[in-house]
Amino acid sequence: MLKPSTTRSSRAGRRKKNTPTLPPATDWRTTDEDEILKRRLRAREERHQIVNLDPDHPVFSNFEVHSPSGMTYQVELRDLVSSQFSCTCTDFRTNGLGICKHVEAVLLQLSRRQRAEYKAAQRLSSDRVDLVPTDAGLRVERCFEKLPRGLRAYFDEAGQQRSEVDPAEIVREFVSSRNGNLRVSQDVAPWLESRRRSEESILLRREYEVGV
Ligand SMILES: [Zn+2]
Repeated sequence: MLKPSTTRSSRAGRRKKNTPTLPPATDWRTTDEDEILKRRLRAREERHQIVNLDPDHPVFSNFEVHSPSGMTYQVELRDLVSSQFSCTCTDFRTNGLGICKHVEAVLLQLSRRQRAEYKAAQRLSSDRVDLVPTDAGLRVERCFEKLPRGLRAYFDEAGQQRSEVDPAEIVREFVSSRNGNLRVSQDVAPWLESRRRSEESILLRREYEVGV
């Protein structure tokens, strides 16, 4: 039996509204919004296998994303309200959008499978204490007041590490605290590594100059 036409037309209208549209592919003057939308659509179209690596945290966690191309990437969700994400793929590192299709795939899965937690996370900031790299050293991204007293001495009141402290020591202290609410961002290890390399090259240059 046919349903009344009003119902059908309103359904069609709703479907249309929910389907995002992109500018033609030939238009290279895309906006950031278009670029974000592209990645969201790719996340919907492709099947990613996603594993939460720390299930104690349903949303603000680290995820392994297996892409259909056979590659595996690590996604970190730090905050949804302020869009603090990280992914190990090249696109995330280079697009300057703070998002990629792997982050979008994780968000999409959470919105479907962890609806209550996901909705809450869209409204309320994360309560985890995340340690992240900045140009001026390590920083506690939010919830500085939740940092155990013993660790606070490494930072100023804004949560920025004091310049005289060795960042590697802060990382060791974070890890050895065994506090599940503290997290060293996945961005910290590559940051420490590039710091070590640039210090090493400065040292080598100096040795070379002395030798000459
Ligand atoms: Zn990615």
